[in-house]
Parts: sequence; structure tokens; C-alpha cells
Amino acid sequence: STTIGQLFEQTVQKYPEREALVDTRLDKRWTFREWNEVVNRLANALLEAGVKKGDRVSTYLYNTSEMGTILFACAKIGAVFNPINFRLKADELSYILNNAEPKIIFFEEALTAQVTQARNGLETQPLFWSINDHPPEYAANFYEKIALSSDSAPMIEINENDLYAIMYTSGTTGRPKGVMHRHRDMVEQSLALIGAMQLTQHDRGLVMAPMFHCAELHCAFLPRVQAGACSIILHHFEPERALETILNEKITTLFGAPTMWSMMLQQNLENYDLSSLRNSLYGGAPMAPALVRKCKEAVNIQLIQAYGMTEMGPAITFLMDEDQLKKAGAAGQAIYNHEVRVVKPNENGPSEPDDILEPGDIGEIIVKGNSLMAGYFHRDDATAEAMYKGWYHSGDLGYFDRDGFLFVADRVDDMVISGGENIYPREVEDLLFEHDGVLDAAVLGEPDAKWGERVIAYIKKKDPALTAEDLEAFCKSNGKLANYKRPRRYIFVDELPRNASGKLQKFLLREQLANQS
Ligand code: AMP
Ligand code: MG
Repeated sequence: STTIGQLFEQTVQKYPEREALVDTRLDKRWTFREWNEVVNRLANALLEAGVKKGDRVSTYLYNTSEMGTILFACAKIGAVFNPINFRLKADELSYILNNAEPKIIFFEEALTAQVTQARNGLETQPLFWSINDHPPEYAANFYEKIALSSDSAPMIEINENDLYAIMYTSGTTGRPKGVMHRHRDMVEQSLALIGAMQLTQHDRGLVMAPMFHCAELHCAFLPRVQAGACSIILHHFEPERALETILNEKITTLFGAPTMWSMMLQQNLENYDLSSLRNSLYGGAPMAPALVRKCKEAVNIQLIQAYGMTEMGPAITFLMDEDQLKKAGAAGQAIYNHEVRVVKPNENGPSEPDDILEPGDIGEIIVKGNSLMAGYFHRDDATAEAMYKGWYHSGDLGYFDRDGFLFVADRVDDMVISGGENIYPREVEDLLFEHDGVLDAAVLGEPDAKWGERVIAYIKKKDPALTAEDLEAFCKSNGKLANYKRPRRYIFVDELPRNASGKLQKFLLREQLANQS
């Protein structure tokens, strides 16, 4: 029974003098031996502050080396790591803190205003530790403060079934739920990622997507550390910074959300030598086949797609490089030792795991395997609903093709029904992305007296001259889209609402539509 803390120790034993961690914001570098000392010091400092096994430790941070250090310190003392989205506002932060009830929350100076405001809404007060010198009423500099504690490994007995982390889901519907993961879940997930990305101690991984999100944290950062690779941390994503860092730090592997790849591909790539980069994981949100093709043309690397969600570990399928063009639009096949099914949706309760659909038929995606969550924190009702007969019910719609490749159609909630026909907005979005004048697109339904709903599209233009008539002609002409799926109205906007992992926040567009009518 291995834990995340034990795996970290094993890596330190094997590669003590290899570079382990680079924080570009602090301009600091650590070998595994040095990093382990810092991790031990923090683990002891947490114990001294009264943190016990099972207690939660929250972070409200951008990407920082401190965040990685906190993760492993928690793992070593059995504290439950709880990274919180730095984009959340004060009341959302209060909600999560009241649910998670952490002993300590680490935050950074840039986020002090939200933290100060969130404090007022708390039922019990955790300790607030700033990772910066300021403001003085909180805490001293992180690395100076923990330097006072011992660097010997804490002696706490931890079991693979103990909780390792609680990750709050983005909550596009309802309040965020705390997804609980045990140590063994993440060991299993890491194995799959180390295999798919072929990670070794020679890799250098760029951390540019938000670390609070499972896609970066559990599909990229954590498996790399376990493989003995080096992590180079960018405080936040900027396309030029990311490209420069790939060049300067000889990055070999990274995770890029589709929006990040889209922004990097808009830069003048000829200015950057990216030859060190061997692969990129992408996913966490759909990436239009047009963008995948563009990416494959622009950079000579292997692309691996992951599909999944926080509750699943998060990755549950991979689409490997050789299948990217052959199986455009697919999410791939189940990861090692996991099962994926598409079953008949049930309107009156959870879908039955044995109602398996034929290839080509769209239904609910359900999954089984060892990297799935243990449940939602303090939400037994929601856990029972999601985990039915041993299968996690995703709420995502999809189908298998005849070769056994999964295609993700959409969220159950995003499906549009027009004149009794089901329309999956993603199919329409993927087509709109094929148009050279389109930079970003979101398709949804609006109420329609005759058809129930009709399809509309929000568009961010690349070409300022683009008109609704152009897009209408494009959708009509290329023979890919049935008549009823064609957008009946185009709304041009400067920016589409996307969350930190690049997912469209369609509920915001729906709210906007409702307010207009
Ligand atoms: P989260 O739990 O925040 O990671 O969000 C998970 C949701 O993102 C899933 O339910 C999917 O709807 C979507 N998603 C993640 N990865 C992919 C992918 N590769 N293709 C399409 N949708 C994805
Ligand atoms: Mg989610």
C-alpha cells in the first residue's frame, strides 16, 4: 500500500541530485533532496500549528512552487490537500471554506482582498498563512517561516485508503461539490499518465495550466514528480511567456488546455525553437478537430488527448497521437484498468449500467475503475446519485464508434431539442471552428415558439469583416450539417465566457439571453 508521500520519498531516494522544481516567479531551483527538505520542514510546521491527520489544508494560490510543496507536506502527514480556484470570488470562497473546514488556508498577496472579504462569511476561522511577506497581519514569508522547523521526515502512519485531497468541481450547475480522492486513487491515475506520456526522470514539464485544477495537478504535475521529472512552474499563463519558457528551460512535456494551445498558435512560432518539446497532453474541455489539425501542422510533437472529469481522477480515456487525425473528434479509449460504457439515459433516476447501447447510439457515459473518487465531501446524497451500482454516472453524453473509440457529444444539460430532434452543440461548434474567420464559438438553444428551441451561435471573430451571412452560407454549403442544426441567429462578441480550464460557461450565456428577453 503506497501513498503519495511514500512515492515522493522513493523518487527523492533515486534522484537526490536531479533538478526537481523550478519556480520562475521566485527565480529559485531545487533538487529532489533540497525539495524534500523543504517539504519536511513544512510538514513539521503544519504539525506544530496543530494540523492532524484528516484535517484539511486549503490553498488559494496561483501556480507557485509553494503549492507543490504544500501538496507533498500534506501527503506526508495525512492532511487533506484542498486547492481552491484562485478565480473564485469572496462568497464562493466562503462557501467552500465552510464546507471543507480547513485548519489552515495558504493564500498569496495578490488575492488578499478576496480573502479578507471571505473571512467575514466563515462559521469557523482557519489560520490564514500568506506565502508572501505582506500583509503583516497574516504571516511571514513562506520559505523563511518554515526554515525554523525540522527537516527530518515526520513519522505519521498513513494508509492508501486515507484521503489525499478534496477538489471542488467548477460547479456550472449548483454549488461546487468537494470531490474526495484517496492516496490509492492518485497512484492509479499516475500510472496511467506515466505510461501514456512516457514520462521519465529526463523529462522537464512546464506547469502553465492552473494547478488547482485536476487536469494540471493530477494528469501532469503529480505523475511527473513520481517519474522523477523536473517541474517548471509559471505563475500564470501568458502565451509568449509559455513559449519562451519552453525554449529557455528545454521543456519536453506539458499539459495545454485547448484555449491555451489556441493562444500559443496565434503567436509567431518561427521566433521560438520548440524542438525540445516531445509531447503535450490536452483536454479538460473539447478541442475542435480544426484546432488539433492546426496544432499538428504548426508544432512537431505528439499530441495526447485526455477526457474525463474531476470525479474520475480525472482522466478516463486517452486518444493517442497516431489516432489524432484518423479519429478526429474522438476522446479515445479507456485508460489502463478502467471501463467505460455508454448506456441508455434514464429520465427518472440514474441510468442502468447494463442498458448498454449499440455503437453509434448516443447515451450517458458511465465509468468504473480505481482512480474514481471516494465520494463528495459532506454530500452523501449527491454521492449516492452519482455512484450507482458501482458505476460513476458522468452526466456527459457520448457514443462509441465501431472501432470502440469514445466520442463525447455534450453535457446532458447542454443538449438542444428543436422540433423533437436532439442537437449536440459541440458538433455545430466544431464546424464553425473550421471557418477561418472564427476564433471562438459557443452554440446553444434559445426558446422558440414553433420548434421549442432553436440553435443560436455566439462568435468571437478573427476576421473583423465576418458576417452572419458568411457563416450561414458556410454552414449550408459544406454538406456536413443537417438543416435543423444550423444556427438561426449569430451573436458577435468580444470574448466568450470560459473558465480557468477553458470550458465554456454556457450558463452565463443562458443568463444573458434570459435577461434580454
Ligand atoms: P472538470 O470536472 O472541471 O474537469 O470538467 C469535466 C467536464 O469537462 C466533463 O464532464 C466534460 O464535459 C468536459 N471535458 C473534459 N475533457 C474533455 C475532452 N477531452 N473532450 C470533451 N469534453 C471534455
Ligand atoms: Mg465539473
